[in-house]
This record gives sequence, structure tokens and C-alpha cells, in this order.
Amino acid sequence: MLAFAAPALILFGMAGYSLLKSRAQSEQRATLMTQNLADALEHSLTASVEKIDMALVSIADHIEDQMAKGGTDAGELMGHIKSQTARRPELTGIQITDAQGISLLGSGLSTQAPVSFADREWFTAQRARADVGLHMSPPVVSKSNGMSIISFSRRYRTPDGRFAGCVTTAVPLGYFDRQLQSLPTGAHGIVTLRDSDLRMLSSIPAQQGQASAGLGTRNVSPVMKALVNSGQLRGSYRAQSGVDGQERFFSFRRLAVAPLMINVGLGAEDYLADWHSEVNTVTAFCLVTLLLYGAGGALVWRVLAQNRHAQRRIELLAKVFEHSGEAIMVSDSRHRVIEVNPAFTRQTGYKATDIIGKLTSSLNSAPTQASDHLVIQHSLSTTGLWRGELCGRTKDGRDYPRWVSISVVRDALGAITNHISNSRDVTEAKRAEDRIRHLAHHDTLTQLPNRVLLHGRLEQAMAGARREAGQLAMLFIDMDRFKDINDTLGHPVGDGLLVEVGQRLSALVRDSDIVARLGGDEFVLVLTGTGQDAARAGAAVAAKVLADLGRPYTVHGHELHSTPSIGIALFPADGEDADTLMKNADSAMYHAKSAGRNNAQFFTAAMNQATQERLVLQAGLRGAIEGGELFLHYQPQLDLDSQTIVGLEALVRWRHPELGLIPPLKFIPVAEDTGQIEAIGAWVLDEALRQVALWRAAGHLGLRMAVNLSAQQLRGDAFPEQVARALHRHGLPGSALELEITESVAMRDPARTADMLRQLRQFGVALAIDDFGTGYSSLAYLKQLPLSCLKLDRSFVMDIETDANDAAICTATIQMAHSLGLGVVAEGVETATQLEFLRRLGCDTVQGYYIAKPLSANDCAAFLAQRKASEASAARAGALAA
Ligand code: C2E
Ligand code: CA
Ligand code: CA
Repeated sequence: MLAFAAPALILFGMAGYSLLKSRAQSEQRATLMTQNLADALEHSLTASVEKIDMALVSIADHIEDQMAKGGTDAGELMGHIKSQTARRPELTGIQITDAQGISLLGSGLSTQAPVSFADREWFTAQRARADVGLHMSPPVVSKSNGMSIISFSRRYRTPDGRFAGCVTTAVPLGYFDRQLQSLPTGAHGIVTLRDSDLRMLSSIPAQQGQASAGLGTRNVSPVMKALVNSGQLRGSYRAQSGVDGQERFFSFRRLAVAPLMINVGLGAEDYLADWHSEVNTVTAFCLVTLLLYGAGGALVWRVLAQNRHAQRRIELLAKVFEHSGEAIMVSDSRHRVIEVNPAFTRQTGYKATDIIGKLTSSLNSAPTQASDHLVIQHSLSTTGLWRGELCGRTKDGRDYPRWVSISVVRDALGAITNHISNSRDVTEAKRAEDRIRHLAHHDTLTQLPNRVLLHGRLEQAMAGARREAGQLAMLFIDMDRFKDINDTLGHPVGDGLLVEVGQRLSALVRDSDIVARLGGDEFVLVLTGTGQDAARAGAAVAAKVLADLGRPYTVHGHELHSTPSIGIALFPADGEDADTLMKNADSAMYHAKSAGRNNAQFFTAAMNQATQERLVLQAGLRGAIEGGELFLHYQPQLDLDSQTIVGLEALVRWRHPELGLIPPLKFIPVAEDTGQIEAIGAWVLDEALRQVALWRAAGHLGLRMAVNLSAQQLRGDAFPEQVARALHRHGLPGSALELEITESVAMRDPARTADMLRQLRQFGVALAIDDFGTGYSSLAYLKQLPLSCLKLDRSFVMDIETDANDAAICTATIQMAHSLGLGVVAEGVETATQLEFLRRLGCDTVQGYYIAKPLSANDCAAFLAQRKASEASAARAGALAA
């Protein structure tokens, strides 16, 4: 910046200096000029005064001559005077006085009568002193013609040398004006004539346009006053004019011949006029120079700034290149390496010196085909860009996947000059990707393919089978009562069982087959390569699966029994796409479940309908309560001892608007799956209690209502409270209610369930274990629950007369229950023999078609009334018999 400004500063300095110098010269010239003018004026005035004096001296001499000759001759004298005035037109008149100042003779006076000049300053001065010589008076206004005049006078003497009188003449001030005017002082110059007391006598230009204006004043500048007071006769100075305040250069002179002072001043504007135009020229020049220089400078500055910016950019780009995490390689148009960055060395092991000059393709490992290079080449020449994965080889021979993006650099004519390639080692990313893909496609518990991967593989297998006009068999496998195991023994045990199932299935099939877990306890097998024999292969493998998965399992020290239910669907007969095939295999599996579990079923079209029905039920259940579609049937329980009806079991029914009556075994599991069971359970509880309250009020005192519970109803802590409120609502004691729960429900969360049951027991509510004998629970455990009775499952009662094993179970159960202080209700009693058998075993209560089928409320009321009547008549008969 300084370097840039210095030449300009020097130029201005020089211009300033030369202007100052030139001004000094101008001023010097002006001073010289005022001096010359003052000299000229001095000469001219001196000459004028001398001429006036000469006239006066000549007349005085003439008088003295006449007086020396003995007397004056007035006529002759007057002639002399006239000759003098004729030669000097400036002399307005000449007067001669006597020694007393009385005019004797002369010209120019308006009056002929003698005039006395005795009081005039000049007269008294001439009379008082002999050496006055020429005397000049201050200006006065002429009495005779009213003009401003100055009087000059000389004395004359008697022959013996005494004062005899004066010769005097008056000169109009205008006479001097003319002389002053003759000076070339320029437009702003000034010339003044003053007397010895510095009174102004004349001034050019005339002040304020009037000849007399300012006359007589002593308006001089302090500088001049000081110079005059110090006694100087001449001098030059520069000051503001005392007359008009303008700045001027002055030269003054004190005349030797008369007490007159002249002062010539030249206006600064005049004498500096040339200098001013010089200043203007120089300034203009400097400005133009400065402008040009500035413009040039700005241009230079911009170019420099652009250069600096470009430089910084280059440095920055170089840093980016150096520090980039991606390996960057620059090659020429023929793919020879010309530059690599440190990340490149880190990735490949090649230093710049190893690789510069080599072909870029030498960095790729063998699997990169020549055709790959062609593809890259084509993409680069058409789009200027290629991105993709290549297999790289490091300097030490390790192959690795690299993600590469190559772009071309072209010159102004469009020819390729360079290739820039960025690459990343994607080994880690691919590993992570593989992991994610594995997780996304496999079940974490069993490590088997999951639903997603099954789908993919299944479609592949289908495509293959289609090509070969072959078939496939799909086995949909669901473990029976797995939910019970999970609920009873906990998830870790359940998980252990599933892992084992997975392993057994994998061991069963060939490598080309597919084993997958869909979630929960559902597995799928796909048998490939079965040719036209898919049905036979499916049946054979299903038999093996039944045998293998039916063997006991040992998990965490528990011996577990579970069996598979298998649905089999064939491709392409039962489904030409993956979804249909799986849906149909699933339906077949449901069918196997309802056919008593632990078996395999081939898909038939009818099964589809069953699955469809489930969906219809699910949708229909949503409005069932509000729609009043649910109602209860009641099945009486007979006490064998007293032969009276002591209780009723409430059994829910659903009348579907289109499907008609639907049994609970069909819709309760659906409601349990969808969570709708909680609302249904609450409704059943309330409706059953309402009904029993009515019957008790109608005289069936002590009648108890049994209500079935599902597991979900015991979730949360609100259930005992809900029961208490329902009892209270219908004005019933706790003893009017019995709750039936299955073993698996009781064992779900044993500690909490026990707690909840104890609360219910405190209200007086009776608790029964339903379907006893079908679960896994040990009596030892059930003992800890506050139970009131066990309900012996119908399956044992059914064959009680024919199956020794069932009879033994019934016998043992009744004995055990009694030893624990629990009552026993036998379910499904259909014949008198069964009843008789149970009575002998000591069973307390029986329930079944033999006593009554589940009855509608009306039928039940009639049944109760009729029982009561026959009991009464029986009592009467008994009394009579007695
Ligand atoms: P469960 O509790 O074991 O009910 C007894 C079932 O056996 C009833 O079937 C009843 O009609 C039937 N039954 C009674 N006596 C005989 C007989 O002598 N021979 C034969 N073959 N069967 C007999 P239902 O009414 O179809 O009920 C089936 C199951 O539905 C019930 O089994 C119970 O587990 C469930 N269930 C019924 N109502 C409800 C309810 O309100 N809530 C809940 N959670 N489950 C209910
Ligand atoms: Ca029951
Ligand atoms: Ca039962």
C-alpha cells in the first residue's frame, strides 16, 4: 500500500513545492512592481511640485528684485504672474500678500477687494520662520470656487532681509488624481496620496465613487503606520489595505520636495492571477494523474487480490488433497498415475514413488475383468464419470473391496487431460452390511432363516421347480401346547425348546431344503427336488418330523413333552406363489390342530374356509357385546350327597347375525388372540351374577354361579376389585360365586396369581381348577393356592368304565384332592354308570348331560323349579316313608 502511495506522494510534494516557489516569485515580482510604480509616481509628483515651486520662486525673486530697485511695479508684476500661470494650468491662481497677510495682487480671486490671509496656517508658518522654503498646506475647500485645494507658498524679503510677505498658489486635488490615475495598477490596485500626517489627499480608485470620500481620513494599515512612525522614507510591505481591507502588496515613498506620502498597492488577485491559473493547471494535472494512477492502482490491487485468493484456494485444495480421508489418485489421459495423496498410501501401501508413472489398472486385482475396464472407459467417455465397486490389491497382495468414483478433466477443446479417482476401502462397511443382512434375514434365537429370507428362497425354489416342471412340498409346523410351556415354565425354557426344535428340524432335511422359523412356535420346511413326488416326500418327512419332534426335550433340567401339528401344501397345486402356498399350509396346520393335534394334514380347499371363518369371527366379535349377540347358558351341578342342585356353570354363547349360534371353543380363542376377551369376560361375570341373584331371590337360596376365566382377565391388579364391585352391584355375598381357572392360567405368574386369588378368597369366592389332569402342574404346587375344588376333566370321565388308566387317574385325583381338603367336580357325566362309578370313588359333585345340558335362562329357571318341586315331594315321600 505504502509502495503504491509513495510515487503519488512524491508527485504531490513536488507540485506543492513548485507552486510555493512560483508563488514566492510572483510575490517578489509584485513587490518589485509596486516599487517601480511608486518610484515613477514619486518622480512625476516631485516634478510637478518642483514646477509649482519654480513658479513661486520666480515671482518671489521678481518682487525682491523690484523692491531692491526701489519700488514695485504692479503692472509689470502682474504680467509676470500671468506668464507663470499661463505655463502652469494646474495653478488656479497666484496671490501675493504683504507682511500682514493682506492680498496685494494676484490672479484667481473672485473678489477685487483685498483679502486677509493672516489667519492661514501657511502664512503664520512663513512669517514665523525664515527657513520654511516651499510650504504646503493641508487640503482645504476653496472659499472662492468650492474645490478641494492645497496651497503652496513661499516668502519674499525686503532688501535688508526682513519678511515682506508671501507668494501663494492653490492646486486642486484633482490635479494629483490625474497623476495617480496614470499608474497601471490593475483591477484591484490602489494608489493613495497622503500628507505628512497621513491624511488622505487622493486615492485611486476613488473611494465609494466620490472624489472627496475618505479624504482627510487617516485610514492606514497598522503596518504602514508603524513603518512611517519609525521614520522610514520608503518601504514595501504586504498587508490588508487600511482603505478597503483587501490583501495587497504596497510600496510607499515620502516625497523629499513636499510633505507628501504616496503608497502604491497591487491586489493579490492581480499579481497572483497567473499563479492561480498555474495552481489550477497543476491541480488538474495532479488530479488527472491521481485518477489514472488510482484506477491503475485499483486494477493492480484487484489483480493482486485475485492472485492472493487464487493462491489461497490452491493452498486449501492442496490441503484437502493431503488430508482427505479418501484415497485420491490423479492420472493422465492415458491412465498413467501422476499424483496420489497420503490416504492413497494408507489404503494401498503404495508410496507416490512406487506408483507414479504406472498404469492405474495395476491397482486392481485379478477379478477385475478386461470387460469391466471397457465399461468404465465407456462411461467416462460418455458421461465423464464412473462410480462403482472394484476389487483392489494392496502392495502386499491383499485383495479388498474398494468403492471408486472416477471423473475426467478436459481441456478447453474438450480433450481429456486427466482422470481423478477417489476410492474408499469398504471392507468394514461390507462386513457390517453382511451382518445386517444376516440379522435381517435370520431369526436371532435359532439362527434359522426368518420369514423374509424364506420368502426369497421360496420364490427361487418355485422358479427352479417351474423350469423343471417339478413340485415342492411345504410343511407348516406348530408346536402343540407350546404356550402352556412358555406360560408355565417361563420364556427361557420355552426358548430352549424352540432352539432344540430348530436343530432337530435342520438335522432332518437335506441341505437343498429350506428350514425357517416364522416366529413363536411356527416353523416351515420346504422340500425341493421332489420331482413329481412332492406329496409322497411331504408325507414321509411329516412322519419323521412327528416322530422326531415328539420325543421328550430336556431344557434347563426340565423334561418337556410337546408334539407338532403339521400342515402340508404342495406347489403348484395348492398355490402358485409364495403367499398363497404359505397361507394354505397354515390353514392345513390349523386343521391338524383341531383334528386333535400331533398329526399332519394335507391342505384341502375346505381348510381355507376355516381360516376365512376365523377372520370373519374376529371382525364380528367387535360389535358382539353392544349388539346384544352374546348370551349365557347355564349347566347345573348336582351334589351327590344331598342330591340337590348346588351350582350352575355359566357358558357363553354367541348368536352371529349371519352365521347363527357359535360355540365358545370357536370364538373364545379368537377373542383371546385379539384381546377382546377382557370385555367379554367382564360382561359374562356381570350377567351371570345378575341371573343368580334373581334365582336366589326366587327361592333358590345358596345357589352358586361358576364363571370361567381366561388368562388375560387376571392381568393387572384390577380384577379382585372388579369382582367385588360386581357382587356388590347385585347384592350378592362372595359365596355366590365360583371362578374356574385352568392350570396354565394359575401357573402363569404364580406369586402374583396366588396373591390375587387370596384376595378373592377373602371375599368368600370359591376357586376351582378347570380341566384338571390335562396340564403340567404338580399338586404340590397347587396346594399353595387358596383353592376350593378341582374339576376333573371330561376326557377322564368319558372312558372311566373302560379305560383302567383313566379310572386310576380319577381315583387318585379324588383321593389327593380330599387329602388336601379340596372338593371334586366331575365334568361331562353322560351316563348313570359314570355317575354311579364316581359316587363310589367319593366324588362330591357331578356336571354333565346326564343331569342337564347347558340351558337357556328360561329353561334353567324351569329346571330349577321342577327340581325343587320333586325334591320337596321326595322329602315328603321320605317323611311319609319314615
Ligand atoms: P369347560 O369350562 O370345560 O366347559 C364345559 C364344556 O363341556 C361346555 O362346552 C359344555 O357344554 C360341555 N359339556 C358339559 N357336559 C357335557 C357332557 O356331558 N358331555 C359333553 N360332551 N360335553 C359336555 P361349551 O359350552 O362349548 O364350552 C366350551 C369351553 O368354552 C368351556 O369349557 C370353557 O373353557 C369355555 N368357555 C365357555 N364359556 C366361557 C366363558 O364365559 N368364559 C371363558 N373364558 N371361557 C368360556
Ligand atoms: Ca369350565
Ligand atoms: Ca372343563
